[in-house]
Amino acid sequence: MGKGIVTIIGAGPGSPDLITLRGLRALHEADVIVMDRLLPAEMLEELGVPLVGKTVLHRGADGGPTSQNAVNLWMLWAASKGRRVARLKGGDPFVFGRGEEEMRFLEQHGVPCEAVPGISSAIAAPAGAGLSLTQRGRGRSFAVCTARRQGGGVNDALPRADSLVVLMGVETLEEVVARLQGDGWPSGTPAAVIGRAWQPWERRIYSTLERISADAREAHAGPPAVLVVGVAANRRTGRPVILFTGLDPTAFRSLGDLLHWPALRVIPEAGAAGQVRAAAAGLRGGIFACAVFTSKSGVTEFFRHVHDQGGDARVLAGVRAIAAGGGTAQRLAEHGIRADAVPAEGGCPGILAEVGAVDGKGVLLVQGTHAPAGLEDALTERGARVVRVALHFVEPHPEMGRPLPEHDAVFFVSPSGVRAFHGAYGDAGFGRDIWCIGRATLAELHRLGFDGKVVDPHGELDATTTLAPHRGAAAARA
Ligand code: SAH
Repeated sequence: MGKGIVTIIGAGPGSPDLITLRGLRALHEADVIVMDRLLPAEMLEELGVPLVGKTVLHRGADGGPTSQNAVNLWMLWAASKGRRVARLKGGDPFVFGRGEEEMRFLEQHGVPCEAVPGISSAIAAPAGAGLSLTQRGRGRSFAVCTARRQGGGVNDALPRADSLVVLMGVETLEEVVARLQGDGWPSGTPAAVIGRAWQPWERRIYSTLERISADAREAHAGPPAVLVVGVAANRRTGRPVILFTGLDPTAFRSLGDLLHWPALRVIPEAGAAGQVRAAAAGLRGGIFACAVFTSKSGVTEFFRHVHDQGGDARVLAGVRAIAAGGGTAQRLAEHGIRADAVPAEGGCPGILAEVGAVDGKGVLLVQGTHAPAGLEDALTERGARVVRVALHFVEPHPEMGRPLPEHDAVFFVSPSGVRAFHGAYGDAGFGRDIWCIGRATLAELHRLGFDGKVVDPHGELDATTTLAPHRGAAAARA
């Protein structure tokens, strides 16, 4: 058998979609994927990497190899068997990622290696917060360093630049700040801590060098986090801070400084595989005239099982695909399906209008278990033969209830999200402006006694300018 190869890939920080195209391609081609412990197990599925025929080792999780030595030996063994190994690491593999050690080990053993860079958290965390590491005329350099000295303690050789990005520093923030002040950084220098960048429960704290430790502690900022010091830590003004409670913040980031605060999480239904197998058989047998997808998660779950069962986009060949909204259509497109219709009017009426005359026809309805029965009932009433496939459900996110960061508005995208948020924070969580995406969500807010403003992230641009950013006490206490 020919010699295998190891590709060391940077996964980017936080959000799975920050990986590079080249990195994603290497994951598709790999026989064995060795993931870092800190990477979320679901990221491969979220990226749509088909896992059939692949071995996935997740360091430290699920009985995967736990020591660096074990990881090295695993890669060596797999490559010597002729396997293509993808070694996936957070951020960039060569920024405090031990990529170079692994590469040296493999090369010493004659294994061909290549590197695919990733977006380091040093770059991505400031960017996600709207901070600029260089600024024309004001910041002409930045340095990235670790706060940790090898063997323990705080690094005593922090570099000098217009701005500094310190990794692995929040655990010892007080000492790092003291060291910086000792190095001559003035107490009033802008300083920011960005924790869990590009992930749910992100925290951004803006302060000065003198006060950042106390402010970060008060705001419950824990690792992983970067400390930014210098001109780059100057907060951009005029953008409202928005707590986004939906599942996927991607399309909403332009509204302001978004913090992802997911009120719900998706749980796959047991027995989903069997439902998809039966649906696929029906599709092959030509019993469906159209397939209706009412959520992004539904699309993801549907294709996850289709792929696991050896199928692909052709499962929907010859069937009209209807997506309930733009996000769902986008998710279909990621799986190679261009939606035939996306109703302009949201909700049940819009979908019914697109489905058209259904008398006697088969309709495949892909929904969450939690979706109201209204659409299925209406289709059945019109004479359709509906097969409903419910592959997932949502439940209140167990981590809801974390202390709320300061914010100007809370954004809701579903009635169940409103209920979950209210369940966790009560009326006090609704002290700021309330934005929502549609009428059903607004109705749920009204039911609980609150008012909200319907905001379309693509339409209503002035929604972002009518708000003065909040500078007062933490909203949770307001
Ligand atoms: N190779 C990684 C860094 C690994 S060292 C990279 O290039 O990003 C781990 C440190 O990275 C953490 O202590 C923290 O300082 C930073 N880090 C990693 N992920 C982060 C995230 N999502 N948000 C903020 N900082 C992060």
